[in-house]
Amino acid sequence: LARLRGRLARSNSSLGRGLLAVLGRTDLDDAAWEELEDTLLAADVGVGPTTELVENLRTRVRVEGIDDPERAKAALREELIDLVGPQMDRSLRSIGDDGLPGVVLVVGVNGTGKTTTVGRLARVLVAQDRTVLLGAADTFRAAAADQLQTWGERVGVPTVRGAEGADPASVGYTAVQRGIQDGVDTVLVDTAGRLHTKAGLMDELGKVKRVAEKQAPITEVLLVIDATTGQNGLRQAQVFSEVVDVTGVVLTKLDGTAKGGIVVAVQRELGVPVKFVGLGEGADDLAPFEAEEFVDALLD
Ligand code: GDP
Repeated sequence: LARLRGRLARSNSSLGRGLLAVLGRTDLDDAAWEELEDTLLAADVGVGPTTELVENLRTRVRVEGIDDPERAKAALREELIDLVGPQMDRSLRSIGDDGLPGVVLVVGVNGTGKTTTVGRLARVLVAQDRTVLLGAADTFRAAAADQLQTWGERVGVPTVRGAEGADPASVGYTAVQRGIQDGVDTVLVDTAGRLHTKAGLMDELGKVKRVAEKQAPITEVLLVIDATTGQNGLRQAQVFSEVVDVTGVVLTKLDGTAKGGIVVAVQRELGVPVKFVGLGEGADDLAPFEAEEFVDALLD
């Protein structure tokens, strides 16, 4: 965990440095507040949350008579944690009710890290002594199913896949059916994400969900967003949330960007929590998201 924190801190150090540099000034004048705003905006925090944070902080500095940088930093830390939402439920609903498996659909645009996320989630669950089955419902790219199966073999869990070009919904259906038969705790379903045809995506994803749901309720729909894509990632989030009820976000590639503020923006946009973050390409580089830890890493 310390290693992951170090990586997050490095990737986001420009935001942390920028924020602390502004608050380190002896004179918190208008220009300093503007600079703070610019720093937050540049880190993809988004206009609404940025304005809110700066207003709150300004008010506190005035009302509480904060006049030294250390206290200002402590106040900034508290405000940032507030913004990230320390009370949000970030647990993964990986177990179903009435003895049914939990069914987790993993959705997102191709290349964001969906398949990697499914593999790493399987690894996390298996480490917790859970039984897991993978469903390769991205049937459009044989390579995607191969990649998922390779993860399955690495982690030691079975993968249900269809022939190339098979109906994704039928693969999802078969995976859940087999999961019920085998009595596994969790079925993780990888889906296709070709965003260029929005209507096609709607149809396909909606169908995967409806058909899978005939056997067991979907316990979680995780949307994978690549943190390095900024506003584009937010637009993708909107499209996906129109198609399926997203219950949580996995923000990948946080190791590759200084724009950690996307965490705040995406939660505001979707009204659901970031549950996991990807901090590298390795098998262990998926971490549960924690507001305080994240903010401390930002400000490190
Ligand atoms: P998919 O098309 O959405 O299924 O994406 P993949 O799972 O194939 O991932 C696309 C690429 O992103 C691969 O090269 C992954 O190794 C890489 N990737 C996934 N998650 C992360 C992450 O958290 N950090 C970094 N640096 N790379 C990642």
